[in-house]
Amino acid sequence: MLHWEDPVGFLKGVTPAVRKAWSALDIQTIGELLQTYPRRYDDYSTIVPIHAAEVGMVVTVKGMVAQCRKLPTFRKRMQLIRCVLKDETGSLSVTFFNQPWLLEELTIGREIFLSGKVTHHPDYGKSMAKPLWEPGDRDAVAAGQVAPVYPLTGSLTQKTYRRLVHEVLGQVVFPEDPLSASTRQEEGILGLAEAYRAIHAPLSMREAEDGRRRLAFDECVTYRLALGYARNDADAHGAPGIPVDTTFAKRFVSALPFDLTDDQKKAVWACMQAMDGKGTVRPMRRLLQGDVGAGKTLVAAFLMAHVQRHGWSAAMLAPTDILARQHAASLRRLCAPHHIPVLLLTRTERLWTEAGESRPLAPSEIPALLERGQLLVVGTHALLQPGRLPADLAFAVVDEQHRFGVEQREALSIPSRRDGRVPHFLSMTATPIPRSLALSLYGDLEVTVLRSKPPGRTPITTQVCIGEARERAYQAVCAAVQRGEQAFVVCPLIDASDDLGVRAATDEWMRLKTGPFAGLRVGLLHGRQKSAEKDAVMEQFSGKQLDVLVSTAVIEVGVDVPNATVMLIEGAERFGLAQLHQFRGRVGRSSLKSACFLLTDAGGTSLERLQILEKTEDGFALAEYDLQLRGSGNLMGTAQSGATEFKAARLTDIDLLTRAKGFAETCLKEDPTLSRFPLWQARVEALRRTAHLE
Ligand code: ADP
Ligand code: MG
Repeated sequence: MLHWEDPVGFLKGVTPAVRKAWSALDIQTIGELLQTYPRRYDDYSTIVPIHAAEVGMVVTVKGMVAQCRKLPTFRKRMQLIRCVLKDETGSLSVTFFNQPWLLEELTIGREIFLSGKVTHHPDYGKSMAKPLWEPGDRDAVAAGQVAPVYPLTGSLTQKTYRRLVHEVLGQVVFPEDPLSASTRQEEGILGLAEAYRAIHAPLSMREAEDGRRRLAFDECVTYRLALGYARNDADAHGAPGIPVDTTFAKRFVSALPFDLTDDQKKAVWACMQAMDGKGTVRPMRRLLQGDVGAGKTLVAAFLMAHVQRHGWSAAMLAPTDILARQHAASLRRLCAPHHIPVLLLTRTERLWTEAGESRPLAPSEIPALLERGQLLVVGTHALLQPGRLPADLAFAVVDEQHRFGVEQREALSIPSRRDGRVPHFLSMTATPIPRSLALSLYGDLEVTVLRSKPPGRTPITTQVCIGEARERAYQAVCAAVQRGEQAFVVCPLIDASDDLGVRAATDEWMRLKTGPFAGLRVGLLHGRQKSAEKDAVMEQFSGKQLDVLVSTAVIEVGVDVPNATVMLIEGAERFGLAQLHQFRGRVGRSSLKSACFLLTDAGGTSLERLQILEKTEDGFALAEYDLQLRGSGNLMGTAQSGATEFKAARLTDIDLLTRAKGFAETCLKEDPTLSRFPLWQARVEALRRTAHLE
């Protein structure tokens, strides 16, 4: 018998190599193994006689080995084995690459299963691409079934992985189901143990989907409970009221070099109203959505200044040091006419700006400033650690949190003030989330949208370049550099073992600077670099000492470099439309003409999807398309979307999210402390723990 918390090593057949491979996937325990879901499935459930296996079908056939021999090859390191399989209806011939041991396994007369996609070989006739073989006399793990496809690393094969998961499913004691039988029936979902069996060893695609939905339901409930709990907690503590000061608001507006857009006005007004009041008020909890370049920073700066004028402090949290520095510069500029002090705290810099003058700070000076309060603080999430926020914090802004934010909301709903109150909270994001989804995901937040952009922007031309046409993109980069402009190149992740895309970007950087961009100054930015190194590269790029910046997608190059006018995205088909749209938003930030090139080798629907980007610059429309187009295989929990809370849930599970929300609300109404629901409480605790660790 195996228990959920047992190390995977307790399972027979787990060799050190397997343990190492799993460890690379963060799988240490049996529970973690079963909570690592298949990426997709190969449907080998159709078993057919050989004559009925038609080219293009994915099938399983069963027959006798009629022939098995080594083929001569010209390449030294390649070994080919050809095997002919026969049944009463016909024969099929397959080739295995570099698996010499098969000569001993596939003995003449042995009965085996072969699964895979049927192809036609010019010399040998009916064949199979990447055939998967299994003995015919034992229970097969893939043949005749829907076979899960897991993320792999190292020498671990799908075959071994599947076999081990099967063994676990036969021996494991599943955790207690937090949903009662009656609730399960009401919601029409599987029991927990059934769901794990269904997602790992389904008999049909339908069953796999049922399993996934149950596990997704749990994720959504846990997530909603965590948020609801945070909201209740914040409401119970209350936040300081900030009476609307129209005189100051007018003064702030008249000092700006431009007019606010209508949407900016509405957003600022809605937030001021929400924080308005004397004494203690219900804390504002709001999401400000606005496409890249819509002018969210100004909205935040205005509100922060307003709060400071009233006698309190406000803070802005950015995802990276680079962005924090950029925001601090914007705040200093916008607040200079109003004598509002700004404190910048990053890993490498501590800067104090008052009365228009900036100076570096010694670390020892900081506690006194935070204690004195009535200032604006800018930094990264490191500010959320105890003692880094001003004692009188009344308003916190979180910019571009690509996560769904349990982490920040939690930290900011716990009283960070001496008087036991919490700050108002504004989360800003450029990720356009369709309204239906926003309501279920962020149901505890009010949502405000900046739809219009400030005037005077030149549209970005977008072109999809297939195969050879990438030359056109390279030429555009060279031409831009000749005009004194700059370019970005974004590289996708190649595989799971290259989890940060370091290899992908490094290879591409080498190739470009010695090939198409020879003679240009090409920089490289990736997640394994030290932060000082990253900063230095970014600084060089914004200081025009580099012409081209090659980076991985995991790095948020959210920095404003108006002189960059070309965005080149390699392997564009690997990204969601909304994400591509975000990358594209890094150019087109000035009156210069900008272009975005999507390089791809994809065809069919992947190509059609990319072509949508050529037609529209409306981020919300793109998000809706994404939602409609992304079918299976696009879990929310991919590293690139950053929503690590979700492994089974998908963006398209709106009905599930809605039902989970309803269920969570009922629980919280019944018992706000959740102590009557210990199983859920434990999951919420676990979510908080992992969310905080990131
Ligand atoms: P984002 O919403 O992507 O964070 P920013 O706040 O960085 O956008 O704004 C993008 C640019 O637009 C900045 O250079 C900012 O100064 C400018 N901007 C913001 N609001 C206006 C406005 N109302 N009119 C003109 N320019 C504006
Ligand atoms: Mg921004």
